Amino acid sequence: MSSQPPHPALLIPGPIEFDDAVLQSMSHFSESHVGAPFVNTFSEVLASLRKLFQTTAPDSQPFVLSGSGTLGWDQVAANLAEPGEEVLVLHAGYFADSFADCFETYGVKATQLKAAIGDRPQLDEVEKALKERKYKILTVTHVDTSTGVLSELKELSELVHRVSPETLVVVDGVCSVGCEEIRFDDWGLDVVLTASQKAIGCPAGLSILMVSGRAIEVFKARKTRPTSYFGSWKNWLPIMQNYEAKKPSYFATPSPQLIHALHTSLTQILSRPLEQRFADHKAASQKIKKAVADLGLKQLASKPENQANGMTAIYLPEGIAPPDVLPSLAKKGVIFAGGLHKEIATKYIRFGHMGVSVTDPSRPDINTAIEALKNSLVEVGYKA
Ligand SMILES: *Cc1c(COP(=O)(O)O)cnc(C)c1O
Repeated sequence: MSSQPPHPALLIPGPIEFDDAVLQSMSHFSESHVGAPFVNTFSEVLASLRKLFQTTAPDSQPFVLSGSGTLGWDQVAANLAEPGEEVLVLHAGYFADSFADCFETYGVKATQLKAAIGDRPQLDEVEKALKERKYKILTVTHVDTSTGVLSELKELSELVHRVSPETLVVVDGVCSVGCEEIRFDDWGLDVVLTASQKAIGCPAGLSILMVSGRAIEVFKARKTRPTSYFGSWKNWLPIMQNYEAKKPSYFATPSPQLIHALHTSLTQILSRPLEQRFADHKAASQKIKKAVADLGLKQLASKPENQANGMTAIYLPEGIAPPDVLPSLAKKGVIFAGGLHKEIATKYIRFGHMGVSVTDPSRPDINTAIEALKNSLVEVGYKA
């Protein structure tokens, strides 16, 4: 039995439902952020992140900073790009617009390669764009949370390494790390950035990054200083290295309670093979997508190869808007999110299926949500 008060299952694409033990580890007594017990915990968190991202390269570097997923964009823009440099942002929805806007904030020129809603830029288009101009960085949103579109990273990264070998491959994995396969070393990725509250299943408040040795070299070769103070790797790199080596170190106070929660969630995730975790998310996702199709509904991501495994973006039937169904779903004990993609926000809803709602067999969340969706649509007059 859960120790949490009864509440509707939060099935939005982050924050997600949290495990009891993760929440309980946040009520840890106060510790010094430079004392040995906390530094040991932080060290274990950094070592666990290497496993989660599937990197054993000694020069890859994890970062954990207080902040949300968005701070990952700022870290990339302020540390890996210099004002006036060019970056290519692959666009599969809302989050690419924001990442591009973040680059522009730091004086970096962002060119977007856009796909139609529900699709992602194709490899031949990316190849053409890379041949037309030299880009310091290419960014891709692994799962765009506004559309539920999954990008393919392996072939994309191979293409970038072949056509434009100096371009850094940066992945926004905020809605994918922990539910989609990511092989940091094997796929030649330079940065994967994420946040604590999505598939990792830890409360919001941590910006988590894995950075390749190659990207750290690019950072060190900057001609100008990083364009952020709090987010500067000049400040954080020695701290992260010291923490991992279990040496006390200080630049800015971390959140010991959140680090404890992250320690617990990572320990839980890594207690089973990652392949099993990805397979569980895929199986739950297939079941949900089949139920959606059986209801006669369409997904934004129409091609199976473009469909995320940790969320589903579902077009509502003609004439039914999110405010018609979301309250009725809530009454049935599930919370979904409304649309986010500006052009079609009133036409669809989003169902997040990540973390304990998928992996904990004692939770009825997914079945409850499928039933609730069916019944809520019938209530507002929909006939499949
Ligand atoms: C949620 C999300 C973000 C932003 O993360 P915050 O924690 O809300 O700052 C960025 N990118 C993607 C793909 C996301 O899903």
